[in-house]
Amino acid sequence: MLTLPTYEDVVSAAGRLEGHAHRTPVMRSRTIDKELDAEVFFKCENLQRMGAFKFRGAFNALSKFDERQRRAGVVTFSSGNHAQAIALSASLLGMASTIIMPNDAPAAKVAATRGYGGKVILYDRFTEDREQIGRDLAEKQGLTLIPPYDHPDVIAGQGTAARELFEDAGELDALFVCLGGGGLLSGTALATRALAPRCRLYGVEPEAGNDGQQSFRSGSIVHIDTPKTIADGAQTQHLGAYTFEIILRDVNDILTATDMELIDCMRFFATRMKLIVEPTGCLGFAAARKMKLQLQGQRIGVIISGGNVDLNRFCALLAN
Ligand SMILES: *Cc1c(COP(=O)(O)O)cnc(C)c1O
Repeated sequence: MLTLPTYEDVVSAAGRLEGHAHRTPVMRSRTIDKELDAEVFFKCENLQRMGAFKFRGAFNALSKFDERQRRAGVVTFSSGNHAQAIALSASLLGMASTIIMPNDAPAAKVAATRGYGGKVILYDRFTEDREQIGRDLAEKQGLTLIPPYDHPDVIAGQGTAARELFEDAGELDALFVCLGGGGLLSGTALATRALAPRCRLYGVEPEAGNDGQQSFRSGSIVHIDTPKTIADGAQTQHLGAYTFEIILRDVNDILTATDMELIDCMRFFATRMKLIVEPTGCLGFAAARKMKLQLQGQRIGVIISGGNVDLNRFCALLAN
């Protein structure tokens, strides 16, 4: 039996993050309120330290290390933002970090991870098993493995963003959250069920990789091949044991968005709100836009999960 994290763990995480993570702004847009005929509150985690909510979970997890763990350091595997989050958090806490990244990860993310002090090891996403590489290193060098989503301290840390959103925006009728492996969604679920129990909570993943939707609707974790989508932060192949249990219990539904819809949202955020949002960060908003009829007159939350996109790639995507 897994011991699932609770809302109390989210509150403890918020205490550890105080003075270290940014309290990101909640932004509004008259244009979008008019488009949806609703009140929309955007939680801007693209403005979080290192450019995504992942700093929250990583810093919370590393803050809980004991003396021996701190001395040995941390290892993780990630396609990008979790890597940067672990590297930055480790540096801030005076620890060494080893990051296992796919050799086709965006160049900006690899460079940023090294810039934050992480030691990067590259692997082939299509032929090698990153979790096995991570476990081997952990065993050989005594490192502590902190995975990108399926860990109670990571989940609790990610839940602090939604806690801040409810504190700043008040009760919401619906909340839309990007979904990869489910760390953000399950942490958000803990905060939502404690602070706004009647709020409908939706996870949103790329249409090309809807393993979360299949899992949610079938009641057991579905594994898929690495999906081909521009949403590189949500190219996960399956939900985690912890994240799936919480999602199944607390989430109302899992929705999807296409790459074209994500690009439309990137354009909207850049031109109307002056926000650089990475493709994955647009998932929540893309799904909300498609539900206009059900959302009329309501108070809607959207978590913008991150803004780490190589500027050349950003321009190329918008030029299409
Ligand atoms: C990691 C990530 C996600 C997905 O988060 P999970 O916790 O894996 O579901 C969404 N957006 C961005 C920007 C991310 O970095």
